Amino acid sequence: MRILVTGGAGFIGSHYVRSLLDGSLPGPRPDRVTVVDALTYAGTTRNLPMDHPRLAFHRADIREAEALERLVPGHEAVVHFAAESHVDRSLAGAAEFVRTNVLGTQLLLETCLRHGVGTFVHVSTDEVYGSIDEGTWTEEEPLRPNSPYAASKAGADLIARSYWRTHGLDVRTTRCANNYGPRQHPEKLIPLFVTRLLAGRTVPLYGDGGNVREWLHVDDHCRAVHAVLTRGRAGEIYNIGGGTHLTNREMTARLLELCGADWSSVRRVPDRKGHDLRYAVDDTKIREELGYAPRWSLDEGLRDAVAWYRRNPGHWREPAGRG
Ligand code: NAD
Repeated sequence: MRILVTGGAGFIGSHYVRSLLDGSLPGPRPDRVTVVDALTYAGTTRNLPMDHPRLAFHRADIREAEALERLVPGHEAVVHFAAESHVDRSLAGAAEFVRTNVLGTQLLLETCLRHGVGTFVHVSTDEVYGSIDEGTWTEEEPLRPNSPYAASKAGADLIARSYWRTHGLDVRTTRCANNYGPRQHPEKLIPLFVTRLLAGRTVPLYGDGGNVREWLHVDDHCRAVHAVLTRGRAGEIYNIGGGTHLTNREMTARLLELCGADWSSVRRVPDRKGHDLRYAVDDTKIREELGYAPRWSLDEGLRDAVAWYRRNPGHWREPAGRG
């Protein structure tokens, strides 16, 4: 099978590509993996085994029709990770989010349809559902995205659905909880806190730290995406949960301990505008239908991630940080 992965130089996409190439995902190894990535601030070829004989890397933008016309033909499957992915950036300026996440996804779908790509896995997020005070969301939940990031992803989900419903393109959508793990850009909470704490610096905690997030190791997310690609059904949506819910305050406590710091390293900063209180998905469908279950416990996964950031201090350039 020849698989094209968009956003394959980013945090999750690169983990997926490395797992495809090293055979750690179940099923036959793909003959060829093509990565299409624009290398925005969030992508780097350092995340990829660039000299791997079955990897072809192309620096290209999913908003460029000519590039997609050249690169998409000949692939049986497309796994679409490319996106603007950081909520805070979407509050500062939403245009790029709409251009890449909505228009870029539509162009990619159109190109896949035209060139007979067999399966399109659209990697989305649980943030499309909005915020939930208690209980969990199933895949039937209406979309009520709150941030421009989440709204642009919800837009992409609906466009993706339309290419399945109207044109019969085999589109499968995943909606995953918050990921963590090695190689995540240090603008995101866990790598931001870990890299700063390891450098003896303070970390900015939004508001009272009471917002609840569900956490999943990137490796589990990639196994779930692959299960959807290889065993999922056309037109279906699959929630992917982590099963571990923590307030940001509880996560901070764990990171302080793992990095050998204490609460004197924490600065309270004003809450993010429109900050979603809680995310929680019901992922019974993917567990029952595809036999998927996360393998990493949060304790083990966080230890692994912190160890990676300790060993690789220069992987990303110093971020501006928050607050
Ligand atoms: P990331 O920001 O680390 O990586 C995104 C990648 O896409 C980068 O390599 C970037 O260069 C590339 N890219 C951006 N715009 C592009 C464009 N116009 N053309 C081509 N490439 C472009 O993001 P991530 O955290 O790896 O997330 C990957 C996907 O998973 C996203 O679609 C995101 O919405 C989704 N997701 C992320 C999480 C999470 O916790 N990180 C959770 C659920 C879903």
